[in-house]
Amino acid sequence: MKVCIIGGGPSALFLAILLKSRGTAEEILVLEQNPKDATYGFGVGLAASAIDKLGAADPVTMAALEEKMHFLTNQVIQNNTGEFKLETTAMGGAITRLDILTVLEQRCRELGIEVHHQRRIDDLAEFDDYDVVVGADGANSVVRTAHEQDFGTQRSPHGNYFVWWGCAKTKLEAGLRFRSYKNGSIMVHYYPYTPDMWTVVGELDEQSWFDLGMDKMTNAERKALFEEAFEDIFEGTPMIENKSDWNQFAGIRNERWSVGNRVLVGDALYRAHFSLGSGTRLAMEDALGLADALAASPDDIPAALAAYEENGKPRKAGLMEATVRSLDWYAHVHEKLDMPILEFIRSYMDRTGRMPADRLHEYAPNLAAALEAQVA
Ligand SMILES: Cc1cc2nc3c(=O)[nH]c(=O)nc-3n(C[C@H](O)[C@H](O)[C@H](O)COP(=O)(O)OP(=O)(O)OC[C@H]3O[C@@H](n4cnc5c(N)ncnc54)[C@H](O)[C@@H]3O)c2cc1C
Repeated sequence: MKVCIIGGGPSALFLAILLKSRGTAEEILVLEQNPKDATYGFGVGLAASAIDKLGAADPVTMAALEEKMHFLTNQVIQNNTGEFKLETTAMGGAITRLDILTVLEQRCRELGIEVHHQRRIDDLAEFDDYDVVVGADGANSVVRTAHEQDFGTQRSPHGNYFVWWGCAKTKLEAGLRFRSYKNGSIMVHYYPYTPDMWTVVGELDEQSWFDLGMDKMTNAERKALFEEAFEDIFEGTPMIENKSDWNQFAGIRNERWSVGNRVLVGDALYRAHFSLGSGTRLAMEDALGLADALAASPDDIPAALAAYEENGKPRKAGLMEATVRSLDWYAHVHEKLDMPILEFIRSYMDRTGRMPADRLHEYAPNLAAALEAQVA
């Protein structure tokens, strides 16, 4: 089997590794537009359940990733009324995007797969002699755009504005802080990916974006506003930028996952809200789903691609619903800023409708205990 993979992100590299290590494909071409070692963003989170599932599929790769991960067990959640340190049993860990890509590329090399950098693809015609062409090229996928109608691409309405910064700070605890600030409401989510480096996601709803005049500011002014608003937390440590442009989140989904021999994985196929912290996990799980399907029917590609979609769709449908609910919760968080803190966190935990009381007990026992004590 000859497989061409457009993109060199987590989904692309993990797919290449699985196809090669299992002997499914003899020829694998990976084409990435960025130079080697170039990356945007800072650390991304991988949930504990994802580590287990992906580790079962490829223990060697996952062990190498785990070595680079920084594990989390708690975070402080705050609104206008107070704060609470949430201790969780299954939060997982964070890793720099560069480390994920470096580990996966190293594994590719060990398996004899070459990743071709600085190869931006705009025309797919040159890959017509490949058995499968995979669009692993992220949210602005050219593979998807080339067949948008056939894929049945849909976009969810725009949500909050957000940005991704880094911060070098010691003696800090992971946190999710929502607060009123001047005539708007703003939030930060920050978590470590090394002992003293932090990913910081800044976010605000559409109304606050205009009320605070963010639409008329430069990125430097927007950063200064957040640094001032959260001065008590970061104590003057500046946010570090790396392609830190503000964007308005839009979810993406596709009715069909393949068109002919062209198939989508990861953010190209489906974009979950980053508040679910699962984009990298989903991207790698798609790679696993596609690798499984191709391994099961190597001589019947249409059947393999149909199986990939059929097996993967139910899980994605649940996540799409979760994304819409989470987006909605975040878009209306300003209405909840004065809620008693425990009630607020309960609402946050159940924002996707998937945290019944028994699961809360298991996932966040100290919150469940505090809620029970309050009732008593
Ligand atoms: C603010 C923010 C916070 C996030 N936090 C988390 C988190 O905590 N946990 C988490 O799991 N995920 C998080 N994510 C999401 C995560 O980054 C993505 O979901 C994940 O990287 C998707 O992987 P992918 O391989 O599908 O696509 P990408 O990682 O986007 O990779 C696509 C690759 O394709 C290349 N490419 C694109 N077009 C072309 C072309 N035409 N030719 C050649 N190459 C091309 C790109 O350069 C890129 O390297 C976050 C995202 C954002 C924006």
